[in-house]
Amino acid sequence: MDTQTLPDNILTTQLKKVVNWARRSSLWPMPFATACCGIELMAAGCSRYDLARFGAEAMRFSPRQSDLMIVAGRVCIKMMPVLQHIYQQMTEPKWVISMGACASTGGVFDAYATIQGIDQFMPVDVYVPGCPPRPETLIEGIMAIQRIIDEEGLPPHGKRRPLQLAIEPSYSPAAQPMATGLTVDGKAI
Ligand code: SF4
Repeated sequence: MDTQTLPDNILTTQLKKVVNWARRSSLWPMPFATACCGIELMAAGCSRYDLARFGAEAMRFSPRQSDLMIVAGRVCIKMMPVLQHIYQQMTEPKWVISMGACASTGGVFDAYATIQGIDQFMPVDVYVPGCPPRPETLIEGIMAIQRIIDEEGLPPHGKRRPLQLAIEPSYSPAAQPMATGLTVDGKAI
């Protein structure tokens, strides 16, 4: 082709890279929040942590459109068939985050009715530690999923294997900000 006729800006890439970029930038989480970890999951989507910065804020309880299952909280034996059903309805390729000690190990609920780790029944890609994990830790887990998508691309034959990564907390605990100068009935609190 005559280079004189080419426009000024040309970008070359591979189809796989474009598809992976689109997938990683538009993750659609399917939240399965059963307990306190769910509150941190909600916080991750709110303005302070703003999950939308990573293109993963559209939580719509719509498994056929979702590609990222986030299990947040303890799961009892009666719930597991429902969880598996929802997982099976999700489109391939799909990924799973196990959020918090309860989802990953049963946590302190060492009881016959509580699943001692959802990975006994379904593939888990990333474990997010904590009781509960802070929203930053969950976001780090979601970023790990994005790296998996970038590096792995399409799973062979439409199937995926659980990578079972564990996220290390990368923050230092700090006191929550406190409001000052509040009064109740004229008294400072
Ligand atoms: S890991 Fe902790 S915060 Fe999360 S559901 Fe279990 S008890 Fe609640």
